Amino acid sequence: MINKIKGTYDILPDETNKWQNLEEVIRNVSKLFNFKEIRTPIFEYSELFHRGVGETTDIVKKETYDFKDRGGRSVTLRPEGTASVVRSAIENKLYASANQPVKLYYHGPMFRYERPQKGRYRQFRQFGAEALGSNSPLIDAEIINYASTVLEALRIKDITVKVNSLGGSESKETYKQKLKEYLKPNITKLCSDCQRRYEENPLRVLDCKVDKGNPILVKAPKPLDYLTDEDRYHFDQVIEALDAIGLNYVVDNSLVRGLDYYTHTVFEIDANLESLGAQKTLVGGGRYNNLVKSLDGPDVPSVGFAFGMERLLIALESVNKIEPKPFIHCFMIALGDSVKNDSLRIVNDLRHGGLVCDYDFFNKNLKGKFKQSDRLNPMFNLIYGSEEKEKGVINVKVVKTGEQKQVPLKDLYQFLVNSIRNITTNSCAGNCSSCDECD
Ligand code: ATP
Ligand code: MG
Repeated sequence: MINKIKGTYDILPDETNKWQNLEEVIRNVSKLFNFKEIRTPIFEYSELFHRGVGETTDIVKKETYDFKDRGGRSVTLRPEGTASVVRSAIENKLYASANQPVKLYYHGPMFRYERPQKGRYRQFRQFGAEALGSNSPLIDAEIINYASTVLEALRIKDITVKVNSLGGSESKETYKQKLKEYLKPNITKLCSDCQRRYEENPLRVLDCKVDKGNPILVKAPKPLDYLTDEDRYHFDQVIEALDAIGLNYVVDNSLVRGLDYYTHTVFEIDANLESLGAQKTLVGGGRYNNLVKSLDGPDVPSVGFAFGMERLLIALESVNKIEPKPFIHCFMIALGDSVKNDSLRIVNDLRHGGLVCDYDFFNKNLKGKFKQSDRLNPMFNLIYGSEEKEKGVINVKVVKTGEQKQVPLKDLYQFLVNSIRNITTNSCAGNCSSCDECD
């Protein structure tokens, strides 16, 4: 038997529904914020990620799936979405669109060679968004609002929105120097990765999972204290906008984020749920004003976020245990060979009218057919044999009540539609706005 690759998982038919529901919420909220979907390839030239994400990041140093294709080109399975979206925006000149900023979202698989554990996989899915072309602090706030609206729509309420600012190049550079000076006498007390990071990219030391909580890092200088006046003003404007929309947040002045390309605003949203284990961060994002230029595009200030969709599902399951079941209107119980083709035709006609139908393809005995129906739990069993065929009728059994009625075949569709409407009306809690009574 050949097994799946470590750190990957199958989405089995009973679970697909949850993913589809999640994707629908994502689509709906994205529509509300007027973001449009973009789909890019899952592999790109390695150089894109090495330059875009940053040579010194953990992702590029340790986590990318790099390989040579048969033409000898170095390609990489995408570890994140932003670099690909920016590559596509440059290649297709999306940044020149009349509608600014260009608002894009994506979802799909990403690949990182990490130690698999709950909420951390080697193939995982991200939903992300990018707004390209505006330096306005309002769009930073809009992006944070968009991410928290997704959580609100999923009814994940116990969350902490953490925001911080790294400032632009000048502020970041001043801070980097201060941090290096501070860390220098203590660097040997930090983990080996941090000792490397100290040389290559000292900000990343603050994002270390091993040294998290270490007093050396807790007492380290904070980026906010080294912002230029202009950068401080940008951050204050973001905060003002968040206050204006009534979004709850905390300023976390030690938040830096793992990727090289961030400038100015950075943010994360954690869910305070036991079920997530150590992986509590659902979404991370921020402003990346230099990325487009560094990938040979024009000067396009941008801001975005990325959610881990598996973590969203884990969070969803612990706050909202009721899963809508896959839904079937009719199960056809055909009695004998003489009606097998007629019953297929009946089922097919009903499907064309929008009813979800299934059928026994194994020619089971009557008991077997009812057993299969029990498992599928349809609204109606349709029972059809040679006697019914002769009379031009069909037996319809309402599964929930056990009530059975013989209906002329020509009236079957209308009968089912009326019955479905009645069932929906009777089980309505009085506020559905779609049934006859609520209308
Ligand atoms: P973490 O600190 O958890 O490693 P990260 O900083 O590497 O996250 P980003 O690159 O910002 O994460 O990706 C955004 C989101 O994608 C994360 O907040 C998380 O929800 C999700 N994510 C990242 N890596 C994985 C993974 N290996 N498996 C599942 N989800 C992931
Ligand atoms: Mg990571």
